[in-house]
Order: sequence, then C-alpha cells, then structure tokens
Amino acid sequence: MRQYHAAKQQAPNALMLFRLGDFYELFFDDAVTAAKELEITLTSRNKEKGEPVPMCGVPAHAAENYIARLIQKGYRVAICDQMEDPRQTKKIVRREITRIITPGTVTEAALLRSHENNFLAAVAYKGDRAGLAYVDISTGEFRATEMDQADAAASLEQLKVRELLVPEGSGKAPEGRWVKTPVDAWTFTTDYAEQSLKDHFQLLVLDGVGLADKRLAVSAAGAILAYLRETQKSALDHLDRPAYFDRAGAMLLDAVTVRNLELVEPMFSADLDAKRDSTLLSVLDLTQTGMGGRLLQRRLLRPSLDRAEIEARLDAVEWLRSATVERAKLREVMGGMLDVERLLSRIAVGTANPRDALGLGRTLARIPLLRPLLEKATATLLSAVREQLDDVAEVRDKILAAIADEPPVTLNDGGVVRAGYNAELDELRNLAKNSRQIIAAIELRERERTGIGSLKVRFNNVFGFYIEISNANKHLAPADYERKQTLVNAERFTTPELKELESKVLDAEDKANELERAIFAEVRAEAAAQSGRIRATASAVAEIDFYCSLAQASLDHRYTRPKFSAQSGELRIAGGRHPVIERLTEKDAQRFIPNDLYLDQEKSRIAIITGPNMGGKSTYLRQAALIAVMAQMGSFVPATEAVLPLVDRVFTRIGASDNLARGRSTFMVEMTETAVILNTATSNSLIVLDEIGRGTATYDGLSLAWAVIEHIHERIGAYTLFATHYHELTELADKLDGIRNLHVSVKEVGDQVIFLRKVEPGSADKSYGIEVARLAALPMAVIERAREILSLHEKTEHKVSEQLEGPRRKSKPEPSFQIQLFEPVGYQIAERIRALDIDNLKPIEALQLLAELKAEL
Ligand code: ADP
Repeated sequence: MRQYHAAKQQAPNALMLFRLGDFYELFFDDAVTAAKELEITLTSRNKEKGEPVPMCGVPAHAAENYIARLIQKGYRVAICDQMEDPRQTKKIVRREITRIITPGTVTEAALLRSHENNFLAAVAYKGDRAGLAYVDISTGEFRATEMDQADAAASLEQLKVRELLVPEGSGKAPEGRWVKTPVDAWTFTTDYAEQSLKDHFQLLVLDGVGLADKRLAVSAAGAILAYLRETQKSALDHLDRPAYFDRAGAMLLDAVTVRNLELVEPMFSADLDAKRDSTLLSVLDLTQTGMGGRLLQRRLLRPSLDRAEIEARLDAVEWLRSATVERAKLREVMGGMLDVERLLSRIAVGTANPRDALGLGRTLARIPLLRPLLEKATATLLSAVREQLDDVAEVRDKILAAIADEPPVTLNDGGVVRAGYNAELDELRNLAKNSRQIIAAIELRERERTGIGSLKVRFNNVFGFYIEISNANKHLAPADYERKQTLVNAERFTTPELKELESKVLDAEDKANELERAIFAEVRAEAAAQSGRIRATASAVAEIDFYCSLAQASLDHRYTRPKFSAQSGELRIAGGRHPVIERLTEKDAQRFIPNDLYLDQEKSRIAIITGPNMGGKSTYLRQAALIAVMAQMGSFVPATEAVLPLVDRVFTRIGASDNLARGRSTFMVEMTETAVILNTATSNSLIVLDEIGRGTATYDGLSLAWAVIEHIHERIGAYTLFATHYHELTELADKLDGIRNLHVSVKEVGDQVIFLRKVEPGSADKSYGIEVARLAALPMAVIERAREILSLHEKTEHKVSEQLEGPRRKSKPEPSFQIQLFEPVGYQIAERIRALDIDNLKPIEALQLLAELKAEL
C-alpha cells in the first residue's frame, strides 16, 4: 500500500490501474468510480482490520478494452506496472507509472477513429490575443498559431479537440466538448516553453519553425510538450517540430457553419455512425488510408485562399481523373497500406506490438509500387509528391528480415523473430524444441530399464521435469530415483539427469525470450530513428490518396472543374446540385433537380429567395456554400459549369438551431450568430442566411431581417443568399440596386401543390403553408378552418403591411426610411463623443463641439 500511495501521488488526477500479478487493480475512490463506470464488482480489502479499502480489478490481458471505456468517458488513466520479473526478486516487486493515458494522448488503434485526428490542445492568453497549439500524438502532427482571443474557441471546436490544457487556477478556458485538464501554470511561461522546445527539437533558435516572435504560440506549445513528457514517459521522437501556421492562408469556416453545412458531422445526430453518410465528407472521402482520410478532412475544413495552390490541386485531380489505369492501380496499392503515421507513433511511444512493426515494414514495401504509376503525371504536385516517396529501405529490410510472418500480438510468448535471423536465438530455440525429443528418448529408455510400460516423463510449472509411476508399479522404481511428490494413485520422481536438463531448457527459454525482446527493441529503435523520413513518406501517400479520392468522387458523381473569376467577381453556377442530397435522393430513385445561380458584385450581390416550405430553399442555399468550399479545397464540383470568386469566408445561419441545451433561447442564438456574421464578413465573403428573424414576433423579425439585408448591401457587400418567409422583403429588390428576387417554383393542380424544385427569377406569390401542412397529414378539419382564417386575413393584409412600413412606396421611395432602420439617429454623434479626449479639451472647444453636434441632430 505504501508503494501504491507513492505512485498515486504522481498522478493524482488519473484513475490508477495498479498491476498485481495477472490483474490491474484499482483502490479507494478510483475503485468506486471505475466499478460504477465499467459495471464491475466492487469488493474490499482489509475488512477484518476494520478499515476496509474499496477495490476492483480487471484482467491484465483485457485491460485495453476497459481503459478505452474509461477514456471515452473522459477519464485519465495511469498505468502502474511491475518493473521486475516477480520470479527474480524476493522482495516486493518494484512498480512504476509507465504511462498516463488521457483522452488527448491515446495511441491505441482501438481508441481512435482512423480518418479523424485526435487532438490535444493548449491555449495561452494575453490581453485579447490567444496562442493556440495542438498535437496529435497518434500521428505526430504538432502546430501552433496565434489569433484573437474570440476566435480561439471556434478553432478548438473546428479541430474537434479532445482535451484542452489550461493553466491551473485560470478561469478563462473556453467551454466545449473537450475534457479540460488543469496543468502547472509555469509550464505555460514563455521562457520555460522556449527552452524546452529548443531542447526537445534540437533547435538553436525558433525562427526556422516560424515561432521566433510568437510568444503566445510558444507558450502553448511548451505546455503541450511538458504535458506529453509527464504522461508519455517516452522519447516522443516522432513529433513534428511545432511549426507556426498562418490561418490567413485558409478560408475560415466557423463552428456554426461547419455544423450547418454538415461538412463532417450530421447536424441532428443521436446516432453518429448511422448518419455519417449525410455529410459532405462521406461523399468525398474515398480515401484508402487513414492518413489520406485525415488530410481530406483537414482540407475540407480549411479550404485554400491561394488561387495558384487551388489550381495546382485541381490539376492533380484532373490528371488522375483521366488516368484511369493509374488511378485504379494507385488506389489498389494504397488499399493494402496501413496507417503509417499511427504505426510510427506507437513505435515512438513504445506501445507498438510485433504486428505493428511488421505492418510498417510491409507498408513501406509497397511504396516503390506507387512511383512508376505517377511517372507520366503532368500535374506538378503529383511529380513533387512522387519525389517525396521514400521506402526507407534500411528500416523496411530490417523489419522484414527480423520479424516472423505471423508474429503474436505480444512479446511475452516468443515467436516474434523470424527463424534464421539470429544464430544464437535459433540455437536456444532448438534446445527448447529438442528437449521434447530428449524427453521422449529418456522416457523410452527408462521404461525399458524399469520394465514399467506406463512410466511417464512430464513437465509442470511447479515441479519442473519429473518421472511419474503409478502406485501399482511403485515398488519397481530404481534406487537412483529421488522421490519428489506423492499423489493419490501415483508417485513422482526426479533424477540428476532430469534436473540438469530442466535448468538448461528453462534457461534457454528465458534467454530466447530476452533475446527476442532485445531484437525487437533494436528494430523499433531503428524505425524510430528514421521517423522523420517515414513521416514524410506517409504524408506523400496521404497526398496521393487525397487526389485519387477527389478524382474518383468527381467521376462517380459527375462533377466538373470549377473556374475562378478573379476580376469580374462573378459567381455563376449552371446546373448546380447539392452533393449530399443528390446522393440521398438517388438512393430513393428520385431525381435531383439542378439549379442555376448567378451573383456578381454589381447588379446582383444579394439574392432573396422566397417560396413554400419544402420547396427546396435551404437545399439551394447550402449547395452554393458547399460548392464554394469544395472548389477551394481543390475538388471538382457538382454542376455543369461553375465560375466562382475566391471567397475568404463562408458564413451560414440556417434553421432553428439545436443549441437549446446550452441554455440560450433559439432567438438569442440566432441573433448572436447573425451578429458574428455582420461584424466579420467582408465583400469577399459568401453569406447564407435562412429565415433570419423567425424566432420572434413577426414585425420584430421582419424589421430585423430587413435591416440585416440593408446592412449587408450598404456596408459589407458580401455575396449573399437569403431565404425567407417574409414576402415583404422581396420589395427590397425594387429599392436597392444589388438585390434580386428568386423563388422556388410550385405547380398547383386543383388544391394540391407539386414542388418543382426549380429556382426561378422573381418572388413567390403565395406561401402554400396550408398545402404543405396538408401533405403532412394534418386533420382535414384543421386544414379547412385554416383556409377560412387565411381568406379573412388576406382581406385585411394591406393594413398589416401599412402598419409595418407605412404606405407602400413602390413608385416613390422615401429616402429617410432606410436610414432609420439600419442606423439610429445619433449613432455617429455617439461615436464622436466616444472618441473625445476630455482631459485635453479646452472649455471653449467643448462648447463649440456641443453646438456642432446639436446642429447635426
Ligand atoms: P425549404 O428550405 O424550402 O423548406 P428544403 O431545402 O428543406 O426546403 O427541401 C425540402 C426537401 O426537398 C428536402 O428534403 C430535399 O430532399 C428536397 N429537395 C430540395 N431541393 C431539391 C432538388 N433540387 N431536387 C430534388 N429534391 C430536392
């Protein structure tokens, strides 16, 4: 128990699994928690002494499974292992914590999704700036950046960070779906962080990784490194240098937009796995390897802003699209590759088993097959990647020579090293194997000598080798037999000869196991030493996989290559389709109706889309946003033709949000999200707004929606698609230059409506709410009554709209009206007052100013 307490002190925040023989045991509060979470029996020790210690345990061979469940529930788990062979020591076996596993630091395949990163992050604050660093130790990716504090939470969410390090005692940590881990605040200090980064990555200065003057980024990266050292207890050779990355190079997609567009996760997702195929990722991800899948997801979430880069990616996709034979072969070869990044990380942290090592060797052996398939590639990115492919022959040869064809999962039972690799090992193994023949020979000889036909020579763990003679023949035992053990109906003996054999064989087995362990460690060390080269090759494979996947998807789904409209700023999509809904409708043997979209910076910057519910408005809006994202990640797009501007951000505000769980009303959420858009969008952004203002009373909502559109039109000038129920908004097209109306068309047949799902110019004339309700099988009595009320209402409708906006002024607009809605009188005056430096203002100046301000009112 003293040993237990000492170890526990080193990992107070983790559940400690304490190795006792064949079990891992938990004690005290850890036991209570684990028993509840794992549904295993809680027992206790030391009952008789009156101070029972709660305990529970799991078998060591099945521990990984139990650990996985604890990690998934957000716990940290410390593994306290036996550091000596219990057979070799008379005292209590020495035990040490060998690893602390936390949600952000797992490397076990069972705990990871192959196409997803598993990020551990740290954030450091100063003033309104934040430094953010993140690492995926299962792949080695390590990056750091700086940003405004307000963007930190969104970035963490976008990365789907699993665990966030925060300085102990700091109240600032952003809330989210991650587990928060408080760590010593000093690990965040820049001086400490800078030194430890330099030491670990053997850098003289941090300039080379772009971190020279990025103190906040450095401090976050340093905290991560300190935490990894504490929890992993290994060399961490496979980690990338924590390179600074500039977020400015990528299109920004905030967390709300990522969710609304269902880029990687379905929006209403009780059952994640079942609905994964309703995301853009699921349509585009035809990658063959884990590293390729992760790259695809990363690029999907960070589309590029660099036109040359995008075109280069599209060139690569285009070449692979046309090179049918090469593409098929490349995909086949990659299909047989394992996740090199993750294998490598397990090798580096020391959790790799013999099969992992063999997997790495076999995957490296496939690398040379890729190279000739890219020989004819005309795209520059593909030739560059081809050059980067390196089969790391030393490591590959060593692994394939040393490791047996079908090695066991663990090192404990031998059989890991290939026969013929090491002469000494072969000899030791022979001795162990030959012992069986030697025993058979002894048995035969002794039977003849004693005349006892049933005499047996056997082995067990407790007594070693022995000769067994049944009671009936006991009297025939020769004098040189030493009695060893008496059973009910037999007697067991030993001889000097057997004793000698025993010690030789046991020795040989021990030595063989030891030697195998040493050879495996050598192989592992060799691979770890080349981890830089292996990582580079893995990322080359990821690139090839990425382009092949996009090429395949573009063929499977009939996509076209987008063009970019640098000067004109026009956005023209002909025959555009929603990449995900298109697939879903196909499954139901329906047809997806393609639609066109035209926007430009002059005459039609904003499109207002009206039409009935279920008419296809949301789909139309999202498809435009998705096409922009796809194009800038380097993918072909679902359209017959697409000419697009390079957009710096895509914003969405779609439908009723499911944020209620966070304790904010739908309307508040809607307005907060709208505020973010209005405050950050630029004229190069694409804004998609669906039913803004619906969460409040009609007139409030309409007024807000109206003001929002005006603001975008006057102040921002972003490409905007706005779907709405408020028909009044369609009047804006008459008042403001850059606004056009569109509507989704329906056909009326008798009193039924048929959705044509075709988007056409002009505004919708009716909302068809009642017809849609009928489709939803509302009782006929309710439908009839609703029709009655509607017709009453329509008779008084002009009054309603007068109340809202005064007499209709289509022919003669009054200029004052707009200004009032989007900019209250006095706004600029307030701004001027705010900017005053009162301390340095003379009284006479103050009076003058006052007079000026008054005159302006
Ligand atoms: P709204 O936003 O107008 O209420 P949605 O965009 O949600 O309508 O679309 C309603 C349904 O119509 C969706 O379930 C979608 O599957 C289908 N749909 C939308 N657009 C199309 C289209 N262009 N072709 C075929 N089906 C479509």
